Amino acid sequence: MPGVVEASPSRVRLGDLTTLKVGGPAELWLVESDADLAAATLEPYRVLGAGSNLLVADAGVPERVVRLGRSFATLEAMNGAPDVWLGAATPLPGLVRRAQRVGLSGLEGLLGVPAVVGGAVAMNAGTRFGQLSDTLREVEVFVDGAREVLPADAIGLGYRRSALPPGAIVTRVRLALTPSTPERVQHAMDAVDAARAGQPKVKSAGCAFKNPAGDSAGRLIDAAGLKGLRVGDAMIAHEHANFIINLGAASAADVVALIEAVRARVTVPLELEWRRWGFPGGERAFPGTTPEPRGAGADRRPAR
Ligand SMILES: Cc1cc2nc3c(=O)[nH]c(=O)nc-3n(C[C@H](O)[C@H](O)[C@H](O)COP(=O)(O)OP(=O)(O)OC[C@H]3O[C@@H](n4cnc5c(N)ncnc54)[C@H](O)[C@@H]3O)c2cc1C
Repeated sequence: MPGVVEASPSRVRLGDLTTLKVGGPAELWLVESDADLAAATLEPYRVLGAGSNLLVADAGVPERVVRLGRSFATLEAMNGAPDVWLGAATPLPGLVRRAQRVGLSGLEGLLGVPAVVGGAVAMNAGTRFGQLSDTLREVEVFVDGAREVLPADAIGLGYRRSALPPGAIVTRVRLALTPSTPERVQHAMDAVDAARAGQPKVKSAGCAFKNPAGDSAGRLIDAAGLKGLRVGDAMIAHEHANFIINLGAASAADVVALIEAVRARVTVPLELEWRRWGFPGGERAFPGTTPEPRGAGADRRPAR
């Protein structure tokens, strides 16, 4: 059947599949069907989206890494109807642009987030202009060998977090958008674009730290004089102090050392926004960080 192939395990370097470009080897399972998902999740696994919010250890991860293939990418479903089901591998940037073209409002705040839809759900991606939970109504997940539909308010969406059921892989989402005009949506997107203008355009995983209540992590790091601080090829960006950038050959160890250096010099506790994969010390390697939520790809348990 076109678009449906057998799950295809292959050995990869996860750094090649993440935007920060650090991280060691893993077994990648590219899945195109429920049968593939069932086969891939018989052993402990993690779920990879676009890899834009991940810090992966230099040693890689022992679990399988499951990634949804093209048959889960359904941008064409965005055809002008405000209530729409979309596949979880649909790239968010294309979705945001398509919504603008068909005059649907609600996704403008996600302009510039280089995620796929599943990863955007897991992280409740957003900006001060809006977040995915504003429009998310239902989530279809593959869990324990079967698909299940959950209302959005059942998956614990908060500031850059979700609490999906353990091991749940988001396969589709239902969004409720608001009819508008392409011009109005574009106008709203221009404001988001302008706010992003100062962000670095090089290898990163977006903002490294969550904003503490009532303050901005970038402002605190900048105030501590840490722009340009460097460990190996990992550096605090000059353009935006909450971006850790990879100048070329950074290792995960460089990035971790830089995170620790920042935390040692900023008096307010900073919680890492990124998901962390494969660190033997677990959360102890990242003092002050809340544990990874259960599910949302952090699961190490076979689905069945
Ligand atoms: C330049 C740049 C700018 C950014 N700007 C923003 C921003 O403005 N706002 C913002 O919120 N984020 C931003 N980010 C961070 C990132 O894009 C978001 O966190 C995004 O939601 C991550 O999605 P992803 O598909 O890349 O997920 P990944 O990084 O691949 O994975 C993140 C987590 O989601 C889980 N996951 C992925 N797919 C699924 C699935 N199908 N089912 C279940 N769990 C899944 C993974 O297991 C992992 O735990 C930025 C990143 C970069 C590089």
